[in-house]
Amino acid sequence: MLGLYLHIPFCSKVCDYCDFHTIQSPERLHLEYLQLVSAEISAFAERHPGALERVETLYVGGGTPSLLSPELLSRLFAALKRAGIPLKELREATMEFNPESCDEERLAVAVENGIDRVSIGLQTFHEDLLSRIGRSHVKGAGQYALELLLRRPGLRVSADLMFNLPGQSLDGFLGDLDRISDYPLGHISFYGLKVDPRSRLGRRIARGEESVDEDLYGPMYLRGVGMLAQKGFERYETSNFARSGEESLHNLNYWRRGEYLAFGPGAHGFFEGTRFYAPEMYASWRKYVLSGCPKSGLTLDPIGPEERVAEYLQLSLRTKYGANLEALRGLGRRLPQPAVDKWVDRGYLTCQNDVICLTGEGWLFMDSVVADLYSNLE
Ligand code: SF4
Repeated sequence: MLGLYLHIPFCSKVCDYCDFHTIQSPERLHLEYLQLVSAEISAFAERHPGALERVETLYVGGGTPSLLSPELLSRLFAALKRAGIPLKELREATMEFNPESCDEERLAVAVENGIDRVSIGLQTFHEDLLSRIGRSHVKGAGQYALELLLRRPGLRVSADLMFNLPGQSLDGFLGDLDRISDYPLGHISFYGLKVDPRSRLGRRIARGEESVDEDLYGPMYLRGVGMLAQKGFERYETSNFARSGEESLHNLNYWRRGEYLAFGPGAHGFFEGTRFYAPEMYASWRKYVLSGCPKSGLTLDPIGPEERVAEYLQLSLRTKYGANLEALRGLGRRLPQPAVDKWVDRGYLTCQNDVICLTGEGWLFMDSVVADLYSNLE
């Protein structure tokens, strides 16, 4: 399956913990971005005739895509259609919204143009925590946005929460999760806060003005998973939970090592066996596009047999579907039984019908388990 990721690099304000490349910008830059990204897509279409017509899932992410005005959003979708992307026939088309820019008008433009799934970044319902991590919305805006989205017939809605925030208690996080899972939505993601030491929050932590209780990470994650399971949301990826049939097809394609195109500054893609990304800084990306998007302007990472095995193990173990040992053998490598048994005995892995899956506390130690399995491959 071929997906397409479109990166919108603007945010109304940079959150205190953010480690993405995102910029606060005057609106005139939004218009320029639109022209540049359209040129980037056209340059790709010219070099790969027919590829955009094969796209089956779209993900418009960022940054904050909903920061674009309704008019610019309309023009963005028109540019995608002109390039040959069958917007109305996609299997799934997701757009990220942030509460402060989630309104009727933008939502109407998105839906009219084929968006059938929205991911809304709520993070927490606690006002004090929103302000401690420097989010630009207040609690009421989150609630308003969520209710607005849920009123739209046929729209699939996913909500993002965060945990292990500075000052967040276990009960506080579980309260957020309990509340969000009472809304009639089909998908919830929750992520542990990762603080970039160069971010504002990272510097406050380094100065001792703020702190994160790392001991709460495990209990928050495991209790959160348990609560969502009771409420009918199954974990299908380490941070993603869905009611039956509500999984994100676009993201599943990443974890299944499917191909996806990517446009916008720093957007990562995978096409014809090569992972690639365009310059991350807006100014460098602008220069790259204005010079005709030369292949030499992309960072390319061709995936050879060894990387294929590493990616397969790493990505498949993130999901509930796990890694198939037969598929590994098909890739020319084999996992000796003792290397698997070691983690099964510890209660971190299950192994049934040649499929290994993380289980229990194993999800908390995913990176170590994967690294150990990889080092034992024959
Ligand atoms: S909204 Fe997301 S991308 Fe934008 S600054 Fe905040 S964390 Fe970063």
